[in-house]
Order: sequence, then structure tokens, then C-alpha cells
Amino acid sequence: MKKKINLRMMYIAFLAILATLITLIAVFYTLFKQEVFDDLRAYAVVLQEADIDKIVNNKAFISEADGLRITVISDDGTVLYDNIAEETQMTNHSERSEIVDAMKNGKGQTVRRSETLSENMYYYAVKMENGNILRVAKESSSAIYIILKSLPMLIVIFVLLLLLCSVLSRTLAKSIVGPIEQMAADMDHMDQVEGYPELEPLIRTINNQHADILKSANMRQEFTANVSHELKTPLTAISGYSELIENGMVNEQDTMRFGKEIHRSANRLLTLIDDILRLSELDSSSESGNFEQVDLYELAQTCVEMLQMSAEKHGVKLELSGGKRIVYGNKQMLEEVVYNLCDNAIRYNKENGSVFVNVGEEDDNVYISVKDTGIGIDTEHQGRIFERFYRVDKSRSKKTGGTGLGLAIVKHIAELHHAQLCLDSTPGVGTEIKIIFI
Ligand code: ADP
Repeated sequence: MKKKINLRMMYIAFLAILATLITLIAVFYTLFKQEVFDDLRAYAVVLQEADIDKIVNNKAFISEADGLRITVISDDGTVLYDNIAEETQMTNHSERSEIVDAMKNGKGQTVRRSETLSENMYYYAVKMENGNILRVAKESSSAIYIILKSLPMLIVIFVLLLLLCSVLSRTLAKSIVGPIEQMAADMDHMDQVEGYPELEPLIRTINNQHADILKSANMRQEFTANVSHELKTPLTAISGYSELIENGMVNEQDTMRFGKEIHRSANRLLTLIDDILRLSELDSSSESGNFEQVDLYELAQTCVEMLQMSAEKHGVKLELSGGKRIVYGNKQMLEEVVYNLCDNAIRYNKENGSVFVNVGEEDDNVYISVKDTGIGIDTEHQGRIFERFYRVDKSRSKKTGGTGLGLAIVKHIAELHHAQLCLDSTPGVGTEIKIIFI
């Protein structure tokens, strides 16, 4: 990452320096050209004031020192005077661009290549009062020459700037990546990293996720330990009883009793495994899978019918009230919820107690409530009964075939349906659990 930032910045710096140097050369050459033409213009003014006509008429000699060439051309292009070449041998000049411009606009200028690459010929022409054209010309450095001459200096400047940029980009890359590296090296103390404000949201999100991961890892560890513990009890019983039978140490009557115990333990194992599998299935299932319009009343009716026998066995009256109410949900999951709640209401009830299942609507929200006249739940336990394997009275739960997972499954399914779970319980009076579909 650091290397990549560094390389990118160096690439940008390289292009920027190159562009700057090229622009500088272009500006410098334009100014230089301007300067040469300014000189030529000054010569032209001086020559005009020095009465050039007289010089032309007398064919007076003007020194070619400083490389200055002076030509006078008539309005038809004939060369009248030249201080270097013989006028009569010179061709008609009316086609030359600076002469054309001067005839048309009063003045003209142009640059033409000389025989040598390093030099250019600069021409400046001006129309005089008598209609003749005065042209002054001078040989001076060409753009290529200027570039070649300044090349060593340009290379030195280029390298120096590149070095400076390399140091700066390295420092910058370090200041960008440094805090991130520090964070990665020690995730537990990320908030102590001195970064820049833009990093704060990232630090916050990673911190939260880190805490969530730790929490869920702890929960999973705790769950695994609980599962192992729960499985161990029935398995130990099965192993113990079967060993006794295997060794022929039990009489016929006890064999029947032990066989019954083994059967009970195996059933307990099956229910446990069923609930554990159900929970892990729910953990990985996403919402709205197999969702449909479900009539809660009809669903409650099925559960009540299924549990009627069990209620009678416990000496509990099971009643359903309310009417047809449609919710959008998973029928099988909702059936599980109602079944678990009714099953608990029967199992944690008193002799001759009652269970009332009601399907209704309040504040435009459909609800189903399961109310019993049972043992109730102490306030201190109320907040925890929806946790996995949490049981108020372990022996009562086990005796009635509980796994401690029923309400955890209920809570999970309610969450998948975005439904609200309300618990109202008074010890010795009874419990009501209501699921409100919002
Ligand atoms: P279990 O399989 O033990 O019934 P649950 O998850 O269904 O597990 O319930 C957790 C605990 O909450 C139970 O062990 C019980 O102590 C308490 N509980 C649940 N429903 C009722 C109820 N209707 N009345 C009193 N206690 C209840």
C-alpha cells in the first residue's frame, strides 16, 4: 500500500515537473523572440530617423557588425538597398511574408530557419512614409539551440525536484499508512492510535465489529459448553444402565426399569438434538424465507388440539378465544412458537390451572397471547428466560421434558418476524407471553 501510494505520487510528480519545465522553455523562448523583435524594431526606428532615403540613394555603407542586415524594398518588391548582398542580384521580395504584412498593415515580422540548426533568422519590416519597405534582420539562437544549451541545467533541476518529491511522497505515504499499520498491529488498542480525523469512523466501525465478534465468539463457546454438559447427563445414564445389563448384574424386573430409563434418556437426547439443530438452522436462516399469509387463529387451533391430551394429563384446562387474524410469516415457525408457549404454560402450571390462548388486535397490531394461571416467574429471572439453556427450576424443567431452549427458539423466530415479545408474570399468580406483529 505504502509502495503503491509512493509510486503513484512519484508518477504524478514526474509528469508535473516535466510539464512545468516544458512550459517554462516555451515561455522563455516566446520572451526571447519578443526581445529580438523589440531590438529590430528599435533599429528600424533609428534608421528611419537617420534619414534612410539618403543612405539608399547614395548607396552608403552600413556596417554589418552585430550581424545586422538592412534591406530597403520598393512597393513592387524590388530590392533597392542591402548592406550585405548586391541588390541587383537579389530576387523580387514581394512574396516574403514579412514584406506582404508590412505592405498591408504597415509592419510585419517573421522567423526563418538558417542553414545551421542552432541559428534562426529574425526579420522585422516596416512601411516607410515614401511607400518603401525597410527591413531589418538579425541571426539569433533557435528554440532547439536554447533547449540544448539549457538541457544540462534542466536535467539537474529535474533530478533535484524529483528527489525532493520522492522524500515528500515517502513522508506523506508514511503519514497516511502509518496509523493504519499501527491499528492492524494492535486491534485491542486501536483508539490509542494517533491518526487523522478521516480515520475515526473506520476505527469506530472496526472497534464495534471487533467487540461483536468477541461477544459472539464468547456466546458460541458458552453454548458449546452448555450443549456438551446437557448431552452428557442422558448419555452417562444410558452408558451406566446398559453396562449393568451387559454384565448380567440385573434381574428381570430391573432390566425392564433400566430399559425404560435408557429409553427416556435417549428420547431426551433426541429432543435436545432436535432443539439444538433447530436453533442453528434459525441462526443461519434469513428472514422472509417461505413467508406467506397465515391465519393465526387457525394456527393456534391446531396447536391447542395437539396439546389437549397433554393438558388433560397435567389437569390443566386449555382454552382458545379470538378470531381470524392474518399475519405475513412462516407458518411452520409460528406454529413452533405457539406450541412452545402453550407447552410451557401447561408444564409450569398448577393442579386445576388454566391456559388461555387469545388471538386479537390492539392499536391496529395483530397479537397472540398465551396466559396461564401457573407458578409465575420471579422478576430476577424474567430478563433471562429467553437465553439459551436458562431455566428457573432445572429439575422441574427436566422432569417435564424441557431442554431450556424453547423460549430461545421463540425469541429467535419473533425477531425473524420483526414481532415484539412481551412478558408479564407474577410469581404464584401466572404468566402471560404476548407476541405483537408490528
Ligand atoms: P424449558 O425447556 O426448560 O421449558 P424454555 O426456554 O421453554 O425452557 O423456558 C425457560 C425457562 O423459563 C423454563 O425453564 C422455566 O423456568 C421458565 N418458564 C417458561 N415458561 C414459563 C411459564 N409459562 N411459567 C413459568 N415459568 C416459565
